[in-house]
Amino acid sequence: MGMCESCHAGCCRSYAIPINGADIIRMERESKLTFWEFACRWADPQGEIAGNYAPHFHFQDEPETQFVICLKQIESKVLPGTQCCQFLQEGEPDAEHPLGISRCGMYLGRPAACRVFPTKYDVEHELPILHTVPKYGREEQNPAYQLCPRQWVKEDVDPIAVAHELMIARYEVSFFNHIAEAWNRSPKPWDMFPGFIRDVYANRISTQSDIELLHAATSKTETPSTISMQQPSTIKMHQ
Ligand code: SF4
Ligand code: SF4
Repeated sequence: MGMCESCHAGCCRSYAIPINGADIIRMERESKLTFWEFACRWADPQGEIAGNYAPHFHFQDEPETQFVICLKQIESKVLPGTQCCQFLQEGEPDAEHPLGISRCGMYLGRPAACRVFPTKYDVEHELPILHTVPKYGREEQNPAYQLCPRQWVKEDVDPIAVAHELMIARYEVSFFNHIAEAWNRSPKPWDMFPGFIRDVYANRISTQSDIELLHAATSKTETPSTISMQQPSTIKMHQ
């Protein structure tokens, strides 16, 4: 049994979880909730929430404040006086599991930050790295915020799946950084943000003719790089 399967999910209770635009679109689809029901903006003056992972956004009502778009947290139903992600399905504590066993109620649609924890990407060597997980996820040393019962080892993660998740997370964060740059050039009110994100992602896919028009407009003559597809009849099968 994996470590997470018998855990109270301290990670889902401790952290402000940044979400990117793809997470927002996917979570709206999967949860049938609106952006306003699961997302919030957290002021991040010291850059601690963003780390190297999430972009900062500015909004017209508070242009000087840098915010990170995150999942909302709610009051825990089983560990009084503590918080957790609203998608956490909390199990009742019992003698064997004094903090209960909790599970993600949004597993298939969960954000990239949740998918990759506790791994990160070593840009230089293009390899996944396991973080050293601290004992607590918050300064407040409440048992609810205890993290993994032991350090993760290589055998705990699937080397294929983890590399794929990190690669996707990296792409989406980079794309979201570009979106933040565009938004921050002329910050608009917070209530316009979800509509803006939906528009961007609705137009993320281009056709060949869109690209040709773009190239013509920017006077570039080279063709876009793509995967060269051969007609089946020209492919020789080696068995
Ligand atoms: S979305 Fe799921 S995995 Fe992520 S913090 Fe919430 S409950 Fe945990
Ligand atoms: S705290 Fe660690 S063991 Fe527990 S659910 Fe989160 S990642 Fe898994």
